Amino acid sequence: MPIDATQPYDENNIFARILRDEIPSRKVYEDEHAMAFHDINPLAPTHILVIPKGPYVSWDDFSATASDGEIAGLVRAVGKIARDAGLVESGYRLLANTGPNSGQEVPHLHVHVFGGRPLGPMLAR
Ligand code: 5GP
Repeated sequence: MPIDATQPYDENNIFARILRDEIPSRKVYEDEHAMAFHDINPLAPTHILVIPKGPYVSWDDFSATASDGEIAGLVRAVGKIARDAGLVESGYRLLANTGPNSGQEVPHLHVHVFGGRPLGPMLAR
């Protein structure tokens, strides 16, 4: 079920539980502000999810209420993760689903990093 990007933060959403190590994940990166792990249902040869450590439901919530340090931390983490995954030369795609029309399912902001093959048109027509 797509979520409402303006709903209150649910401390028991699946990514909050991954952050607390209550659920295993294939972690690829962690620092003060961000963590990244492989998507459980990859849609490309590389499909990594990058999340802020803070309790933000969506891009809307994060961009409006996170500190400058958290925002810079997430953006720099995404760039580093893509570089470390060897995606810069071949190219990659970032996606942050936000709210019902996007189909966002997990109510903790996540940036998808896709790469490893030509990714096709930006959206289905
Ligand atoms: P959304 O549709 O919200 O943008 O994307 C949610 C993503 O989270 C999906 O690509 C889905 O495969 C991934 N996902 C859902 N549950 C888990 C989980 O428990 N572990 C991991 N690693 N990924 C998950």
